[in-house]
Amino acid sequence: MSFVGGVETGGSWCVCAVGSCDGAIVAQERLPTTDPQETLSAIIAFFRRAPRVEVVGVGSFGPVDLDPRSPTWGEVMATPKAGWRNAPVARALQRALDVQVVFETDVGAAALGEQRWGAGQGVGSLAYMTVGTGIGVGLLLGREPWHGISHPEVGHVRVPHDTARDPFPGSCPYHGDCLEGLACGPALAARWGRPAEQLDPDHEAWPLEAAYIAAGLANLVFTLAPERIILGGGVMAAPGLLPRVRRELENLVAGYIQSPALAPGLEQYLVAPALGDDAGVLGAIALACAGSAYAEPRARP
Ligand code: ZN
Repeated sequence: MSFVGGVETGGSWCVCAVGSCDGAIVAQERLPTTDPQETLSAIIAFFRRAPRVEVVGVGSFGPVDLDPRSPTWGEVMATPKAGWRNAPVARALQRALDVQVVFETDVGAAALGEQRWGAGQGVGSLAYMTVGTGIGVGLLLGREPWHGISHPEVGHVRVPHDTARDPFPGSCPYHGDCLEGLACGPALAARWGRPAEQLDPDHEAWPLEAAYIAAGLANLVFTLAPERIILGGGVMAAPGLLPRVRRELENLVAGYIQSPALAPGLEQYLVAPALGDDAGVLGAIALACAGSAYAEPRARP
């Protein structure tokens, strides 16, 4: 059996794995994300110990450069994470391990994993949104993550912000009260003075949170009309939040789009991820299995 590699790089942890394209993992390790040099060395050391692979999929926290013609392909771009700006993640692995690297955002990879083995099976156009430290969306239009001049940054769309109801100015260092600035985990902690997981299920935080997330999702539904949306991330673990977001989204769509996919209640349309904690690294393995050329540097045409 031949294996492929997968790496999920996150703000706090990186997960490396070797597995097969039926989703079986044969080796896996979780490493703390420190500075790029130390972290990349630890990832390389894992693959030197693990069964040999020729392709490694990397799902990286972003923003990242995914343009195969760019000299900074495979690098982390305008990240606030200390030391990681222009960290040459893909090329470091390519050089040290002599492998093909398929490079994607963490959410793009997670969307691929869910499409292959999880809650997105059988669905061609799929959006995967995570609400946690940040808000990210991976969009699969067909079987590939969508890229334009960049990967999409749906977390930074504008949503209505009633400053009388919610005077919190937003936490995004770039846009203030964009969706992420209003609704990511750190925004909740800053607004309410304690982390999301310590807020009671009947706290006033949750109707507001559901309204913001649903407003962001409505933009996505009206723009791209994906066949299904998977909604995950640490904040979405809050009891009752997913059903609240479904109700808000249904109200915002207001029956305007007629599709069997949007059956009343949206229970088949807006769903939780199915791969749990392994979503990121399985996504990276799915990326390697897809092995398509879209993330590999190519000669200029
Ligand atoms: Zn923003």
